[in-house]
Amino acid sequence: MNRIGNKLYQLTIHDAHELLKHRDISSVELTKSVLQHIANVEQKTRACITITKDAALRKAEEADNLIRTGNINPLTGIPVLIKDVICTKGIRTTCASKILQNFVPPYDATVVEKLKAQKAVVLGKTNMDEFAMGSSTENSAFFPTHNPWDLSCVPGGSSGGSTAAIAADEATYALGSDTGGSIRQPAGFCGVTGLKPTYGRVSRYGLIAFASSLDQIGPITKDVTDSAIILNTIAGYDTKDSTSVPYPVPDYTSYLTSKLKGLRLGIPQEYFVEGMNQEVKTVLETAINTLEQLGAEIHWGVSLPHTKHALAAYYILAPAEASANLSRYDGVKYGFSEQNADNVIDMTRKTRQFGFGPEVKRRIMLGTYALSAGYYDAYYLKAQKVRTLIKQEFDEAFQQYDALITPTSPTTAFKLGEKTDDPIQMYLSDVCTLPINIAGVPAISIPAGFVNNLPVGMQIISKHFNEETIFHIAYAYEQATDWHQIKATL
Ligand code: GLN
Repeated sequence: MNRIGNKLYQLTIHDAHELLKHRDISSVELTKSVLQHIANVEQKTRACITITKDAALRKAEEADNLIRTGNINPLTGIPVLIKDVICTKGIRTTCASKILQNFVPPYDATVVEKLKAQKAVVLGKTNMDEFAMGSSTENSAFFPTHNPWDLSCVPGGSSGGSTAAIAADEATYALGSDTGGSIRQPAGFCGVTGLKPTYGRVSRYGLIAFASSLDQIGPITKDVTDSAIILNTIAGYDTKDSTSVPYPVPDYTSYLTSKLKGLRLGIPQEYFVEGMNQEVKTVLETAINTLEQLGAEIHWGVSLPHTKHALAAYYILAPAEASANLSRYDGVKYGFSEQNADNVIDMTRKTRQFGFGPEVKRRIMLGTYALSAGYYDAYYLKAQKVRTLIKQEFDEAFQQYDALITPTSPTTAFKLGEKTDDPIQMYLSDVCTLPINIAGVPAISIPAGFVNNLPVGMQIISKHFNEETIFHIAYAYEQATDWHQIKATL
């Protein structure tokens, strides 16, 4: 019936759409199948924070009524999970933090509005690292998520709930957010497709801010076609986000063709880092050979020498922005508020002391320090200069190459608890993804193989507002391989 599998919960968006359009299935049937599957596997993955079962079934009925009148859009009636950092009207949005544990937004993020305009079926909200700070989803204030490929491993992070959910077929697709790798790194660890669009391609309105100059929302899907379908829907200018860019949105699905003739692909040597898992490296080399067989011209040994400063710059810039963004959680207007306090200052202090977890506090301290008088020039300003150099380096590379190919991460998923006591080791799992946010360019992670039964992701990077080329390469590779069709058994 479809390439991925024959259970309704296993369908891709495009296959589900065909079946819905021809009324071979109804949205209620599809939604019930997914909800039943969530009930079966959720105690293993713990991918979700909130499931809105009744509301989802009502929305599915509405979608079916619409389809019966002959009206159907690509996402009509199709179930989606949303990372709990993206505001959903009337549905609790926690950021996996105690400080927002009971926060119910009075409005939808623009991306959610766009999904709802097509009558998508929102199933609920996914787990994440608190305020999207982390690489394993272990920083959730509630519980960690488990990797469907090996339940003793992390799913990656911070969008680990969304990627584990898609790997486990707990939704047809999901939304995540990516500030330094939070869509791509967990997509790689869970063997699914995750896109970080160009900064400014997708509205951030209603995305609870971590580091505003780096944050982007993107799709987490079962294949590349679905990723293009979601970007078609969520991309575009939004008057409510002044950093969204008024470029026209092409039909990304029209770039899904299977020959790569004439494309020049660069392989930056700095991304095959020391300490990288050798088997991951071999998987990537094989994947690059496949791209060559598809007609691409491969250029090894491209150099982006400032890459080595990206991690240090990121851990100044992102915490600096976070320290400012998170100052709004003062216990006054919304979220948790500690009432057992002597005065307002004491109330704010205790609210933040009890409301934030240790990683969030670490970032606030780092950021406050880097921005303080006397240190600003030495840290923040310097990091901004490094940022410019990194961006220039990418701009230059894209004058010669259509795209760059790297591993998404230097390793496969690690064990739960393995890196929780060592923040630097945790930060290092994003070495291949953070430079992309610093430069603001788009990148995707797609499944490229396995090492010891754990998925390996390949990252495809292109220049600003050139998601078309990324989809083209990713699709051609996907058609030539079947990694994306191999499912975790739960
Ligand atoms: N792991 C990185 C961090 O902790 C990136 C997180 C993200 O992209 N949201 O900051």
